[in-house]
Amino acid sequence: MSIVFIVSAPSGSGKSTLVNELFKMVQGLDFSISYTTRPPRGSEQNGKEYFFVSKSEFEAMIAADEFLEYANVFGNYYGTACRFLRETEKRGHDLLLDIDVQGAEQIKKKVPDAVSIFILPPDRDKLEWRLRNRGLDPEAVIRRRLDTARREIENYSKYDYILVNNVLEQSADELKAIVLGERIKGSGTEPTPEEDR
Ligand code: ADP
Ligand code: 5GP
Repeated sequence: MSIVFIVSAPSGSGKSTLVNELFKMVQGLDFSISYTTRPPRGSEQNGKEYFFVSKSEFEAMIAADEFLEYANVFGNYYGTACRFLRETEKRGHDLLLDIDVQGAEQIKKKVPDAVSIFILPPDRDKLEWRLRNRGLDPEAVIRRRLDTARREIENYSKYDYILVNNVLEQSADELKAIVLGERIKGSGTEPTPEEDR
C-alpha cells in the first residue's frame, strides 16, 4: 500500500523549496501534479508543477468525478486527480500531495491513513519577507496571501507533523526523516541503502 503524504503551508513558508529538496534525497516518491485554473507563474511548465486548464475543462473534470479532492484557493480551482494515486499504487511508490488545508481535510476523509505535514514559517515577518523576496507576486496578491496565512495557520494542530522552516537544510532533513520514519512504521516502500545513511 502506498503512503499518501499531504504537505500544506501558508504561501511563502518555503514549501515548494523544501519539497524540491526532499525529492532530491528520497526515492520511490511521486509528486501529485495538480490541475489548476490559475495561469502559470515564472518558469512554471504545463505538466511539471501543474496541469494548467481552463475553468470549463476543470468543471468538466468535476462533473466526470475525476478528482480525489478539489478546492477554490485564491479565486482559482485546484484539484488532485484520482488517477495519480492509482498510477502511484501500480508503481509501488508513495505519493506526495502539495495541497491546501481544505484539500487536506477532504483527503483525510477518503484516505484516513494519509500522513499530514504542516510547514510553518519561523514568524510573520519572515513570511512577509520571503513572499516579497520571491519576487513573483504583485503587492495586492502578497497582501491576500498574508491574510489567508493567518487563517490557515489556525489549522496547524489538525496535522500529524508540524515543521518550522527556519534553516532550510535542517528542515529538509526533518522532512526526509518524516518520510523515512513513516515508511519504516507502515507498509510503504523500504528505504534504499543510500537514503538510510
Ligand atoms: P511556498 O512554496 O511555501 O509558497 P517557496 O518555496 O516559494 O514558498 O519559498 C518562498 C521564498 O522563501 C523563496 O524565495 C525561497 O527561496 C525562500 N525560502 C524557502 N525556505 C527558506 C528558508 N528556510 N530560509 C530562507 N528563505 C527560504
Ligand atoms: P500556488 O498558486 O501558490 O501554487 O498554490 C496555492 C495553494 O493551492 C497552495 O496552498 C497549494 O498547496 C494549494 N494547492 C495546489 N494544488 C492543490 C490541489 O490539487 N488541491 C488543493 N486543495 N490545493 C492545492
